Amino acid sequence: MSQRVSILGATGSIGQSTLGVIALHPDDFEVFALTANVNVDALFELCLKWKPIYAVLKDADAASLLSERLSHSDLDTQLLVGEDGLCQVASDSRVDVVVAAIVGAAGLKSSFAAAESSKKILLANKESLVMSGHLFMQAVRDNQATLLPIDSEHNAIFQSLPLTYECGQPTQSVSKILLTASGGPFLHRDLATFDAITPEDACAHPNWTMGKKISVDSATMMNKGLEFIEACFLFACDAAHIEVIIHPQSIVHSMVAYVDGSVLAQMGQPDMSIPIAHALAWPQRFDSGVASLDFMKLADLSFEAVDVERFPCLQLAIDALSQGQSACIALNAANEVAVDAFLRREIQFLDIATIVRHVLANVDSPEPTCIDDIIRIDELARKSAQQALRAS
Ligand code: NAD
Ligand code: MG
Repeated sequence: MSQRVSILGATGSIGQSTLGVIALHPDDFEVFALTANVNVDALFELCLKWKPIYAVLKDADAASLLSERLSHSDLDTQLLVGEDGLCQVASDSRVDVVVAAIVGAAGLKSSFAAAESSKKILLANKESLVMSGHLFMQAVRDNQATLLPIDSEHNAIFQSLPLTYECGQPTQSVSKILLTASGGPFLHRDLATFDAITPEDACAHPNWTMGKKISVDSATMMNKGLEFIEACFLFACDAAHIEVIIHPQSIVHSMVAYVDGSVLAQMGQPDMSIPIAHALAWPQRFDSGVASLDFMKLADLSFEAVDVERFPCLQLAIDALSQGQSACIALNAANEVAVDAFLRREIQFLDIATIVRHVLANVDSPEPTCIDDIIRIDELARKSAQQALRAS
């Protein structure tokens, strides 16, 4: 029987890769809903191709343009608007699988809605987990949702754990999770030239093609910091059990070290179709459309320690994790504000860490106990980041 899929963030990089994998398996999946923020053209094109039951636009003005287009087409696709629309297609009783691929805090409520509605969730939106940690994992447990990570590292860790492993359980017999990082475009750039880094430089990742926000996060290594926090929640472990290792070739996507000295790794081309196909097919496997590795053609695989002076954002994230959930929310919010300002050329690359550090130093919110608390802390941190921006 085919599974009905809602793809949140369908017009983005992960959304496109997901649709690419689904196109290889037309009998296994039915596209139930496709969502986007403001991109009317891209979402309309996807509707023509996939004929979903629902299309959702977050932005109301964009939605009225799409409504116009849909009404002049042969499509029966219904249009929903705003956050409520996103939550509706994440929780609809007809949906089996929700691909959470919105970027940033904007994905929080819909990811939660999927967990509370017992869905199989393919989680790309790491920011929502960083913000809600234990609360999200609790919602998954309480509602018997199935959580499958598609962030490549976490998918690799999941694949290197026993077949019966469920996210959120303690990892038996594991001595360490080895989280690999490419080091991004500035692994070897002269530190003295960091003040000249442009958004174009930061978005030119050597191994992966991704959305702009995660590309900048990869360049600062805040992405690895967010992934560090993500791994702690997904695999129920503490910071002492995670080690970040630079692996510039992005062939080993992460590893799990066991107490007997064995280390299991997942390897593959740096192509998100592989973790997406793994999670879509789970617990089976099917074609991802990506060729296997040719070991005769691989250059050396190398590993090195992280230079913390070069990448202060990684340590800021690890510090936030030890401070608690409110600090993780503030870290994420400050980073989103700072990355956005950097992409708009309002601040320099190095200011991103400065702004996040400033916001983290001023966190004094009590720990959140519900989504509304999370949103309040997020808003406070964004205000604090805006003040730091103006001062920079
Ligand atoms: P992207 O910028 O390419 O796409 C983002 C999607 O989210 C788009 O469909 C956009 O319309 C939608 N969106 C943006 N703002 C929104 C808002 N305010 N409300 C509703 N929808 C909104 O991003 P991406 O690279 O596909 O990344 C998506 C998520 O997946 C991020 O959390 C990222 O960290 C994670 N991720 C991405 C990759 C990758 O290779 N791209 C790898 C691992 C994890
Ligand atoms: Mg990743």
